[in-house]
Amino acid sequence: MTAPLLEVEESVPHDTAASFGVAAGAATRLLAGPPASAGAERYAAHLDRLGPAGHLGREPAELRSAVRASGLLGRGGGEFPLARKLDLAAASPGAPIVVVNASEGEPASRKDATLISLRPHVVLDGAEAVAAAIGADEIVVYLHRERSGVCGALARALEERRRAGAAASIRLVDGPDRYVAGEASAVVRFLSGGPAAPRRTAVPPAAAGVGGRPTVVSNAETIAHAGLVVRFGAPWFAQAGTDGCPGSTLLTLAGDVSVPGTVVEVVSPTTFGQVLHEAGGLAVPPRALLIGGYAGSWVDAAAAWSAPVDRHALGLAGLRLGCGLVAALGDDRCGIAETARIVAWMAGESAGQCGPCALGLPAMATLMGAVADGRARRADVRELRRLAASVRGRGACGHPTGAAEIVESALDTFADELRLHVRGRACRATGDGLPLPATPVDGSRR
Ligand code: SF4
Repeated sequence: MTAPLLEVEESVPHDTAASFGVAAGAATRLLAGPPASAGAERYAAHLDRLGPAGHLGREPAELRSAVRASGLLGRGGGEFPLARKLDLAAASPGAPIVVVNASEGEPASRKDATLISLRPHVVLDGAEAVAAAIGADEIVVYLHRERSGVCGALARALEERRRAGAAASIRLVDGPDRYVAGEASAVVRFLSGGPAAPRRTAVPPAAAGVGGRPTVVSNAETIAHAGLVVRFGAPWFAQAGTDGCPGSTLLTLAGDVSVPGTVVEVVSPTTFGQVLHEAGGLAVPPRALLIGGYAGSWVDAAAAWSAPVDRHALGLAGLRLGCGLVAALGDDRCGIAETARIVAWMAGESAGQCGPCALGLPAMATLMGAVADGRARRADVRELRRLAASVRGRGACGHPTGAAEIVESALDTFADELRLHVRGRACRATGDGLPLPATPVDGSRR
């Protein structure tokens, strides 16, 4: 049996984390420092390497100005400018709070877990810098305890800081290990005493979040970048990345790469092909790339190979780098079958509280499964496209849109394979029998 393209693992691949690319100032980027095999960097070594935290003794407005000047975009799903959250939180009434979202619900993504496991103090410095920028005296790190390495590394790091006399109040909160439980509004709801389910609100968390307080929720990589920005400045930050998306970017390489789960830090402007060649062990383009995670898009590898690793440029092409997951689909794989498995999983992971998820996603999963199995006909494919279009932009969060995105991009990218499937004929890999979804389509995990 062929192994699944995107495998769900609990372990954090410390030994596969690596830096990638070279740029001026690269020695102080996120994953710079001791080799991954050394494990979590200790507090004393962290301070020796980077010097004192950048926010100490500075005014909140000055810190916000530095983040604004950096152009730092969120390194999670939304790619929202961090400075706008900071400015809104600072201007809103109530005691502000910072939430480091370390839940990383994307099953194949390892970049935040790897960052926290290797450089916990870079993340915690960032959290303190963001707190100082908005005048917050409370910081929460929201995570999944099951993700080995993350919780232990953070607990040890906090103890080191406490012994060193660090004053910030940082607590760890264990959230449910669900895909949508890491969505910002779900995190806010959970920390306010409710379920970890998304909720559409007119007011963003930065204005009124946890308990109605101004809340900056951002993922661990973004927070870590903020700490380095206030430490070394916006011009330093812009020495990495591109004009459209300054700063380095963490990627998780998954699927048919030499070591799935490898995390790389892309420092210089480069292409997906170059990253996969140098860090993923691929010498020639695979069949396709899945860019942006399960809610991302399939792109024919011939086109994706030369595409820039640049959130801004990808956005112009209608793509999102999202959580930074890049999965390679080997030439002997079936993208239709992989998509059927992923969509079935997504259908089971929804909170089930909105119509598009309660009805649309299971129907899409069932039809996609029928297509993959060679039981569907052209009318079913048309119905699949209709369903995908009907759930787009609906519901209380982006989950239905993400499911629509991967389905529609699969139908477009794997058009040749699709023709074989609707004729009931085996395509390149259906004979291998890819695994059935791990989560039931009936959503029984809810
Ligand atoms: S759209 Fe789906 S995942 Fe999002 S809140 Fe509604 S039911 Fe939950």
